[in-house]
Amino acid sequence: MHIDLTDRVVVITGGGRGIGAGLVSRFAGEGARVVALDLAFGEEGTSGGAATGDGVPVGDRILRLDCDVSDPSSVASAVAAIDDRFGRIDVLVNNAGINVEGLIDDLDFARWQKCFDVNVGGVFLMSQAVAPIMKRQKSGRIINAASFAAIVPSIGSAAYAASKAAVVQLTRVLAGELGPWGVTVNAYAPGMIPTAMNGFAEMAPDAQGRLLDTLTLRRWETPDDVADLITYLASDQASYITGALIDVSGGKLATQIPSRAYDAARL
Ligand code: NAD
Repeated sequence: MHIDLTDRVVVITGGGRGIGAGLVSRFAGEGARVVALDLAFGEEGTSGGAATGDGVPVGDRILRLDCDVSDPSSVASAVAAIDDRFGRIDVLVNNAGINVEGLIDDLDFARWQKCFDVNVGGVFLMSQAVAPIMKRQKSGRIINAASFAAIVPSIGSAAYAASKAAVVQLTRVLAGELGPWGVTVNAYAPGMIPTAMNGFAEMAPDAQGRLLDTLTLRRWETPDDVADLITYLASDQASYITGALIDVSGGKLATQIPSRAYDAARL
């Protein structure tokens, strides 16, 4: 199967680091014209400076633009700038997200609300801003980062897991509402990719081992594992998939104790 994304205009939120940065490179490598939106350009670990106004080009395929997805005016001006420059948006990947942890006794409402503002509000605002462009084109792809936490939440993830479950339900509503224009909307559920969000790579080896023991495919997930799915969902080959939540977690908790298979196989 040959996935052809040549010259597709692809907007990726949270494209400055982590999984989003991996998606930006992959789409650019596939020949797409990529707009990376983020708050974080210029942070340690990302190259290039702040990217305000019309954005900062990185090479000839990537444009970096500052955008806070939880701020309606920031979203409106970023999407208007993209529409002015490219005249279309073929793919929107709503990747930007934050992790807010806290047991219910300790979680203050402001942190809960911030989590929803970014994780759910960001998907809502970006999708709402891009929808008229995709309707005008009578085509488009919206692809939303949920999480395995939307399927099985962990302790202390009240805000994060609830926000990601909301993303899944929002995805289904958007799929229904945009279906008449040939716009597909899907969500995906990664498992465990070590990034700045979770600090998995910095954990003690035994703590890492306990987490890896929850995986059917016992290795950390990479941004490339996610990009394999997202480029497919963005492609012509995925034109009949919509309203879906796709598990790309390496079989996290597909069985109750997947590590028993590794013990049995003596790996
Ligand atoms: P990360 O923290 O490394 O990157 C997230 C990016 O989003 C950052 O560049 C950050 O600046 C940006 N961002 C945050 N708030 C923003 C805002 N208001 N406006 C614009 N950009 C904003 O995280 P990651 O691990 O790469 O996660 C990416 C997505 O994947 C998130 O939605 C996350 O919930 C989801 N996810 C990650 C994992 C994992 O294991 N890493 C698992 C499941 C789901």
